[in-house]
Amino acid sequence: MPRRLQDAVAVITGASSGIGEATALAMADRRARLVLAARDPSALERVAETCAARGAETLAVPTDVADPEAVDALAERAAERFGSIDVWVNNAGVILYGRVEDTPPEAFRRVIETNFLGQVHGARAAVRHFRRQASGVLINMSSVWARVSSPHVSAYVASKHAVRAFSACLREELRGLKDVHVVTVLPQAVDTPMFRHAGNFTRRKVRCLPLARPAEDIAKRIVWCAEDPKREVTERRFGRLLELAQSAAPPLFEAIAPRLFPRLAYSNERAEETTGNLFEPLH
Ligand code: NDP
Repeated sequence: MPRRLQDAVAVITGASSGIGEATALAMADRRARLVLAARDPSALERVAETCAARGAETLAVPTDVADPEAVDALAERAAERFGSIDVWVNNAGVILYGRVEDTPPEAFRRVIETNFLGQVHGARAAVRHFRRQASGVLINMSSVWARVSSPHVSAYVASKHAVRAFSACLREELRGLKDVHVVTVLPQAVDTPMFRHAGNFTRRKVRCLPLARPAEDIAKRIVWCAEDPKREVTERRFGRLLELAQSAAPPLFEAIAPRLFPRLAYSNERAEETTGNLFEPLH
C-alpha cells in the first residue's frame, strides 16, 4: 500500500554526500521530517541547511555507524524530536581497493564494521521502533556487488553480500508484521565522491566505474521504495545480466573479471597508499 512521505520521519545515514545527500534533498522536497547522520558535523550541517531551505524540518546528528551505542542514540534523538521513525535508510558506506594480501587487516575490518555491521546496528535500532508502531520501512543500501564477485574490492563485495543476506533474514523475521518492510537496494556504479575517498592499497589511482548514474537517480528509487516498499530493487538490469553470467559460467566469469576490472577501475596515474575516509571523514 503506497504511503506518503509528507510529515513522515526519515532517518538517513551517510546523508552528508553522494546518494545519501541526494536522498535527503529528494525527501525534503516531499516535506518529510529528516534526521541526518554521518561523521563530519559541518558537512552534515550544510546538507541539513539545504533541506531546511526547501521547507523540511531537519535534525543533524553526527554519528559513526560502526558504533552501536551511537546508532542507538541516533534513533533515540529521532524519536525524541519527532515522536516516531517511519523510514530508516541504512546508506553510509566506504570502499577499499587492494589485493587481499596487501590490505591491512584493520582497513578490511573497518569496511565490514561500517558497511555491514553499521547496517545491522541501524536495523536493530529501527526495528525496535517499527515493532512498537507496527509500521516502518527499512531501506538497506547494498550493491550489484552483492550478486557478483570482483577482485581488489573483496572487503566491499563481502560487505554488500552480507547486507543482502542479512536483509533477507530480517525480512523473514518480520514476516508477521504486515506494515513493516525491509527493502534492499542494489545499484550499479553511481557518480559520487566514494571513489575519490576510497581506501587504496593498489598504488594506482582509482576512478569511478563506467556507465555511472547520477546520485539523484538512486535517490528517486529510494523515495519510491519508501512510499511503495519492494523486496529488492536492482538499479539497472545490467546487474542481473552480470549475475546470470556469473552463475551460468563461473569459471569464465572468474577468468574475465581479473583482466577487465583493473582496466575499468584504475587510471594510469600512480597513487600513494591510503586508508582514505575509512577511519576519518574527508569532504
Ligand atoms: P559517498 O562517499 O558520497 O558517501 C558516503 C556517506 O557515508 C558520507 O555521507 C559519509 O560521511 C558517510 N560515512 C562513511 N563512513 C561512515 C561512518 N563510519 N559512519 C557514518 N557515516 C559514514 O558514497 P556514496 O553516496 O556513493 O555511497 C552511499 C552508499 O551507496 C554506500 O553504502 C555505497 O556502498 C553504496 N553504493 C554506492 C555505489 C557507487 O557507485 N557510488 C554503487 C552501489 C552502492 P562521513 O565521511 O562524514 O561520515
